[in-house]
Amino acid sequence: MKVFFKTYGCQMNIRDSEIMEELLVRSGHEIVKDLKNADVAVINTCAVRAKSENKAYSLIGRLKKRGLKVGVTGCVSEIASKDLKSRGADFVLGTRALTSIVDAIEGKMDFDMSDHLSDLEKQLITFNTSQTRKSITTRTSKHHAWVNIIAGCDKFCTYCIVPYTRGREISRPMENVIKEVKALASSGYNQITFLGQNVDSYGKDLKDGTSLAELFRRVYNISGIERFWFLTSYPSDVTNELIEVVAERPRISRNFHLPAQSGSNAILKRMNRQYTREEYIDLIRRIRSKVKGATIGGDIIVGFSGETDEDFEQTLSLIKEVKYVRLNIAPYSPRRGTVASKLYPDDVPTAVKKKRMLALSTLQHAIMDEMNKKLVGKSVDIIVEGNSDGKSYGRTIDNRMVFFEGTIPEGESVTVKIVRATAGPIYGELIGKVLKVVE
Ligand code: SF4
Repeated sequence: MKVFFKTYGCQMNIRDSEIMEELLVRSGHEIVKDLKNADVAVINTCAVRAKSENKAYSLIGRLKKRGLKVGVTGCVSEIASKDLKSRGADFVLGTRALTSIVDAIEGKMDFDMSDHLSDLEKQLITFNTSQTRKSITTRTSKHHAWVNIIAGCDKFCTYCIVPYTRGREISRPMENVIKEVKALASSGYNQITFLGQNVDSYGKDLKDGTSLAELFRRVYNISGIERFWFLTSYPSDVTNELIEVVAERPRISRNFHLPAQSGSNAILKRMNRQYTREEYIDLIRRIRSKVKGATIGGDIIVGFSGETDEDFEQTLSLIKEVKYVRLNIAPYSPRRGTVASKLYPDDVPTAVKKKRMLALSTLQHAIMDEMNKKLVGKSVDIIVEGNSDGKSYGRTIDNRMVFFEGTIPEGESVTVKIVRATAGPIYGELIGKVLKVVE
């Protein structure tokens, strides 16, 4: 069958789609990029925000009108399989039932596999390793690979549906991860991102000394891998050991993505975030004192239940203090099934949320402008991620996107001198030697 995938949401979802695509290809199916050529469409959904859930619902309707068989995977399938059926979905697979994708496509299973089986979780955990022994055909990038090291989340933030859709934390055995990284390196991959909802909780459940810090020690010298990234960190799980390991290894990303969500202790408590504002700031201080050139990324929720003007001021002051190089800002909206949706009223008026969003994004814009302009005149090493219209772009080790003239192949390492910077794009001139040039 010819199968088309539409993926919403985070990198975990992108990686899940890659895994499903690989399973289908191995079973003789074909992945198509153009919907016109498809027999089946799979929508891999995200339930974190109502907006992306609603997009998935409307897409089901449009796809059914084209006469396609439609399957739904991902987080929405965990919480709304009946709704999905009533809107026309032909099958539903939960986040821990991905390995049933072939049966689902071939019509060999009942409608709803969101009620997954625990042995399927184990299959998925080991899948990543066995996959790399065969040819890697369906990864999104040919040079940058996403590697799941831990699935699920034990944190239970009151606003979040993820612990219910993805289950409790399960870490992959470190030897499996190492084998996968070696296989990726020998297939030509030069960048690896270790992925997890809480990537720095990696290994806690294994109770055998496994940790993200130890994983970095073990994989750092695998020949061919030029850069390592890790995503997403939970602030109170970042250890001094991890900071030291990153500090001593310059090919590990200098960017820590540390969602704060709020700068107010009262709101953090209501969100069940397991750190205070002071502990968060202390963590940033420890990172910056050890890791030369470290940058910080973050996420903020605006207008969570009970957020007063004073609480919001605390968030603004946190942002001024931390100076994020990237910040995802989202207005709070209750998600059904979460603790917050049951216990706390959504009591910040929409107009107030909008006003606060604007104030926050204006502040962040000014900070990014200031931070990016500091790069002007400096030379940075980047790995090219793409090119078009005679230009190429890539990322610095501290996670800033740089654009420059010249069509350089993806995955190539180059040195670029920064000539102009805005709060958004940063522009440079190619000065480093490159090995290959696109014909
Ligand atoms: S840490 Fe909190 S926000 Fe992140 S996935 Fe877990 S419950 Fe959700």
